[in-house]
Amino acid sequence: MNSTCPYCGVGCGVTVTSRAGAVQVSGDGEHPANAGRLCVKGAALADTLGETGRLRYPHVNGSRVSWETALDAVASGLQQVIDQHGSQAVAFYASGQLLTEDYYVANKLMKGFIGAGNIDTNSRLCMASAVVGYKRAFGADAVPCSYADLDHADLVILCGSNTAWAHPVLWQRLVQAKLQRPAMQVVVIDPRRTASCDIADVHLALRAGSDAALFNGLLHWLAQQGTDSSMLPHLADVPTALDAASGWSPAQVAAYCQLSEEQVTAFYRAFASQRNVLTLYCMGINQSTSGSDKCNAIINCHLLSGKIGRNGSGPFSLTGQPNAMGGREVGGLATQLAAHMDFSAENVARLQRFWGSDRVAQQPGLSAVALFDAVARGEVKAIWIMGTNPAVSLPEASRVRQALAHCPLVIVSDVAAQTDTSELAHICLPAAAWGEKNGTVTNSERRISRQRAFVPPVGEARPDWWILAQVAQRLGFHQAFAWHHPAEIFCEHAALSGFENHGSRAFDISGLASLSVAEWDRLQPVQWPVNASAPQGTARLFSDRRFFHPDGRARLIAVTPRLPLAACTTAYPLLLNTGRIRDQWHTMTRTGQVPRLMQHVSEPYVAMHPQDAADYQLQARDLVRVQSSQGWMIARAVLTDDQPVGTLFAPMHWNCQFAAQSSVGALVAAQVCPLSGQPESKQTAVQIARW
Ligand code: SF4
Repeated sequence: MNSTCPYCGVGCGVTVTSRAGAVQVSGDGEHPANAGRLCVKGAALADTLGETGRLRYPHVNGSRVSWETALDAVASGLQQVIDQHGSQAVAFYASGQLLTEDYYVANKLMKGFIGAGNIDTNSRLCMASAVVGYKRAFGADAVPCSYADLDHADLVILCGSNTAWAHPVLWQRLVQAKLQRPAMQVVVIDPRRTASCDIADVHLALRAGSDAALFNGLLHWLAQQGTDSSMLPHLADVPTALDAASGWSPAQVAAYCQLSEEQVTAFYRAFASQRNVLTLYCMGINQSTSGSDKCNAIINCHLLSGKIGRNGSGPFSLTGQPNAMGGREVGGLATQLAAHMDFSAENVARLQRFWGSDRVAQQPGLSAVALFDAVARGEVKAIWIMGTNPAVSLPEASRVRQALAHCPLVIVSDVAAQTDTSELAHICLPAAAWGEKNGTVTNSERRISRQRAFVPPVGEARPDWWILAQVAQRLGFHQAFAWHHPAEIFCEHAALSGFENHGSRAFDISGLASLSVAEWDRLQPVQWPVNASAPQGTARLFSDRRFFHPDGRARLIAVTPRLPLAACTTAYPLLLNTGRIRDQWHTMTRTGQVPRLMQHVSEPYVAMHPQDAADYQLQARDLVRVQSSQGWMIARAVLTDDQPVGTLFAPMHWNCQFAAQSSVGALVAAQVCPLSGQPESKQTAVQIARW
C-alpha cells in the first residue's frame, strides 16, 4: 500500500509492506515528489507505530471516560461559552499535521456554523508570510513552481533555508541535479554556514535579517540592466516598486548586508544572466517581523526579469509541514475562508449558499499569537487545540502555558498521551495517528497525495474529522456534518473550490469533486488546479502570464527593508537563531520515540563561534544558560566557526518531556509581521553564561 510521509512539506510517497507481521516502510518509487528516496525520519516511520506514548482513551478532568461522555462534555462546554460570551469567545488551534479532510471539517464548524473566524494553525509559525507574499503579487496564494524545476534550473538560490536538514529529500534531488549538470550554480544566502553550503558555489553570509535589501538591490540592478520587456504588460505597480528599490546600489547593499560589493555584484550578475533561476525560500525569510515584505522582495525580482512560469524558474516557498498547504486550501488560517477565499462580502455570501448556513463568519479571526493573547486576557474562554503543542512551540511559550492554565476550557485532541499542552487540558481526545487514518495532504509544490490507513487505531483513537463532526452534530448542526467517509468530505471540499469559480480563484480541484470512494482511495498524486481545463493537474502556474488579480496582471510590491526588531543591547548582546535539525520533527512527540533518530543529536544545544565562547569563558560541552528578556533555557555548548561571531543557533525541538528547561519558545518574543502575523522566531537578543 502507498501512503505519504507525515513529517515535512516535501511530501514523500512511501510504500508500506508487512513481512512476518512487521510493518516496513520504504520510498515509493512512483511518487513524483521523491521517486523512492526517503530521509532518515521517513525511513524510521515504522518505528513510530504502536502504542508507545499514545493517548488511547478520552479523558475528562484526568479520568478516563467513554467517547459519548467526552463528546458531550466538549459540545456542552463550547455551547455554554457561546451562550454566555458569544461565538468570539471560542477558538480552534489546529496543525499542519491534520489531513485536509480534518482541516475542512474544523474550518467549516468554526467559520461556517459557530460563526467566528477563530481557527488558526501552527502553520502561522511556518509560512503565513509566504501566503501574504503570493497573494499580494499574484492575487492568489499560488505556488508557481514544481520540484521538477530543479532539473531545469541554471541557478538555484537557497535563501533562509537549510534544505539539507529541513527538506532532506529535496536536497538529495538538488545534489543529484548538480552532479548531472555541474554547470548549474547554487547560491546559499544564510548568515550561518549550514549543511546546505556543502554544494554551494557561493555562500552569501549576509547580516541576519537583511535579505530584503539584497533583493531590493537586485530589483534595482535588473531595472538598470534592462528588464524582460515582454513581462511589462503583465505587471502593475512597477514604478513604485522600482522607486522604493532605487536607493539600493550594490555599494549600499553591501554595507547594509555586511557583504563585499564584489559578492553582491557577482550575485546580481548571475541572477540576471542565467535564463532559469529558481529561488527556494523558507523560515529564514518567513519568520520575521517583515517576512511578507521579504517574500515580495524575492518575487519582485522574478516578475520583473520574467523568470517565472517556465521550466526551472520561479519564487518557490518551501513549507515545513506535510499539510501546511492543505490547511491553506480549506481556510485553516484565521485570515481566510475556505477554498482560498478572503472575507469579502461576496465570498461570505458564496459560502452561505454553498454550506446552507446563515452564520458564516464575516471577519477574519485571531491569528496564532493574538489568539493566545486573547486567551491570556480571558477573552477567549474555550480553546480546542488539535495535533500541536503550543505550550512549547509558540513564542513566549511560558506565557502561553500560563494562559492555558487559566483558560476555563482547554480541549486537546492529539495522538500523544503526554505533551506540555495536554497537561493543561480539561478534556483530552485520542486522535488516530499516521497509518491509522485516511485522507489527503498537499505538499509544497501543490501536489495532493493520499495518506492511507494500514493498521487499526490504538485504543479508542478516532480520526479528527469524525471527532469534529460528532461535536458539530451535538451542537445542533446535523445535516451539514453527516459524512460517513472522508472521501465525502474531500469531494465537498473539491466541489466548493469550483463553486461559482469562473477562473477567478487559483485553487480549483473541481475535477475531483465527483470521485467515488473507490476512486478517491486510488487517487494518484496530482498538482492543483485540477479542473475541466486541466484534468490531469497543473505542474506550473503562470506560463500564460495571466495572474489572479482582476486585471490579470501581477503586482510588484514596494519594499522598504527593515532589520529584525530584536536588536542587541548591552544586557542582551547576542542574537539567537532557531531552527530544525536533521533527524527531529516539531517538538519530538513522534521522532523522540525513535532511538536511532536521537543518535544524531541527543540533547539540546546552542551553537556559538569559538571567539564568543572565549569571551564568555565557555568550553565545548559546557552547560549554558541562554537568557532573553522573555525567558531562559539550558543547552550544551557547541563551538563552531560555522556560526557568525555574535550569533547563536539553538534547535527548536526540545521540550520538558525530554529535558528540563530546554524550550527555545520560552525565549522568543511574541513580535509578529504586521501583515502575516508570523512571529520573528529567527532573531532573539540573548545573553549567555555557564550554568
Ligand atoms: Fe518525510 Fe520530509 Fe524526509 Fe521526505 S524529506 S521522508 S517528507 S521527512
